[in-house]
Amino acid sequence: MTQEARKIRLLMHLRRSGITDHRVLGALERVPREAFVPDSFLDQAYEDRALPIGLGQTISQPLVVAYMTQALEVTDLHKVLEIGTGSGYQACVLAKLCRRLYTIERHAILLETSEHRFANLRIHNITSRVADGMKGWPEQAPFDRIIVTAAHTGSAPPPALTDQLGVGGVLVIPMGDERRDQRLVRYRRTEAGLEREDLWPVRFVPLLPNLPEEGESRASRW
Ligand code: SAH
Repeated sequence: MTQEARKIRLLMHLRRSGITDHRVLGALERVPREAFVPDSFLDQAYEDRALPIGLGQTISQPLVVAYMTQALEVTDLHKVLEIGTGSGYQACVLAKLCRRLYTIERHAILLETSEHRFANLRIHNITSRVADGMKGWPEQAPFDRIIVTAAHTGSAPPPALTDQLGVGGVLVIPMGDERRDQRLVRYRRTEAGLEREDLWPVRFVPLLPNLPEEGESRASRW
């Protein structure tokens, strides 16, 4: 089966699984996932599963990328912040739908690889940096949309992120323990405060504070 045929099969699967937003499906169709996975996993690029990208991290499952993007309700007027660039795949999907995407990754080597991918794919509306995304990107705030692609433990999202969300803004974040129930949560910032809505159960790698120590990268290359 060709990659193109696999991609069509995946898009049909996404549609059957509740991805109804045509703009989201169109963005997933236009971003070649095979450019974001290691060579040894190329034959699985259009399977609906998360794949390893090194340093113990993963490129998310396509259905989860699609679902989170749909839940974020992005338009081409929006300034969007992503925490956890990883492979850069979710970033490129969002970049197709929004005005400008800011993305933060704590592993420099992952971000470097992603930046090459953005350039190769000629996606020019992404600004990225290596930092602890739990602190947000204060110089660029407020954001219309914020998406976190790693799981946050605790009952409330990191305060820097909700502070940097504009009124009318939406934050989508997986909340909960790595091993126990994780759930995708959508927060809306209104004049009155934050409204919380629990969405799907999910499974993400943890959102970690600060930049990695030397040993952390060496300990888990794959
Ligand atoms: N969106 C990615 C999936 C990312 S996996 C994709 O489409 O491929 C989660 C990523 O979050 C990992 O790369 C991890 O290093 C990063 N991460 C975890 N905690 C972070 C933090 N505090 N700040 C920035 N990035 C973080």
